[in-house]
Amino acid sequence: MTPLEKDSVRPEPDALSAGLYVVATPIGRLSDLSLRATDVLRRVDALGAEDTRVSRQLLDHIGARPTLIACHAHNEARTAQALVERIRTGQAVALISDAGTPGISDPGARVVAAVHAAGLPVIPVPGPSAVITLLSAAGFLEPRFRFEGFLPARATARRERLQELAGSQDVVVFYESPHRIVETLDDLANAVEPERVVVIGRELTKRFEQIHRAAASTLPQWLAEDSDRRRGEFVIALDAAPPADTLQATDAVPMDALLRALCAELPVRQAARVAAQASGLRANDLYKRAVALRGRAATEADLSDTDVTDDADQA
Ligand code: SAM
Repeated sequence: MTPLEKDSVRPEPDALSAGLYVVATPIGRLSDLSLRATDVLRRVDALGAEDTRVSRQLLDHIGARPTLIACHAHNEARTAQALVERIRTGQAVALISDAGTPGISDPGARVVAAVHAAGLPVIPVPGPSAVITLLSAAGFLEPRFRFEGFLPARATARRERLQELAGSQDVVVFYESPHRIVETLDDLANAVEPERVVVIGRELTKRFEQIHRAAASTLPQWLAEDSDRRRGEFVIALDAAPPADTLQATDAVPMDALLRALCAELPVRQAARVAAQASGLRANDLYKRAVALRGRAATEADLSDTDVTDDADQA
């Protein structure tokens, strides 16, 4: 393991060197601001902030007084050049978003790209991000994950995306707002096998933090039981789809073809039941396989004219 470097071994100089410091800030709990982030925010000359009113609270808390420059989704390209000019003249400039890591479902990437393009240093100051915070507490054995940011807001597009993600062999993580959490968890429960494990992180690091790990099919009921569970900020992680080799290799090719044909005519659950009767295999395994095939079809568009719906889709 690479030994950690102590700041005292290599002390920071009095003035920070010129560059863009991309600083992660807390996603809820102020004390999650790192010592290094605190030090950098106190010493930079200027700071690009997504919402200067939000950032001022954090900066006041640590007694930092850099020049604040609004840098949000609507002015990022323009502001990027202004920040580049400051760095060119020797200034240390920080970039923060309202919460978490800049550039992760937040503005920041354009500024970072502009600084790279100008040949100037970009220095990450890592810290909280909701996606990594939830993954660390999810307990999924699959090490690979796919981060989706926010799913599409429109219902049809969101359902299509979830159908595609249902077959992902990587863990899938996405953000969701409280306005759409009920619809999204309904759609998720319809898109994956009933027992697929989902972990919901609500209000992570905050007073009412909640981490709920349960089968997908139970989530709509869980949300309905308590209105508090529908409040706050959410990040959701979906376990990887079961491996395609759940079925015997010798069975897999003809069974895939049978499932595709049945799914073209029947809802997925019914298709799985018919295939189970015909083959003697477990309906549950066949259901998982059919869902995985449907996800793959959405990705590769190789079943683009096959309308594969299940009971819930038709409701
Ligand atoms: N840049 C941030 C990061 O690194 O996580 C994400 C910004 S994105 C605009 C905001 C979304 O992140 C929220 O709508 C929510 O889905 C998720 N999020 C942020 N803080 C969270 C928290 N404390 N608990 C759960 N989800 C959170």
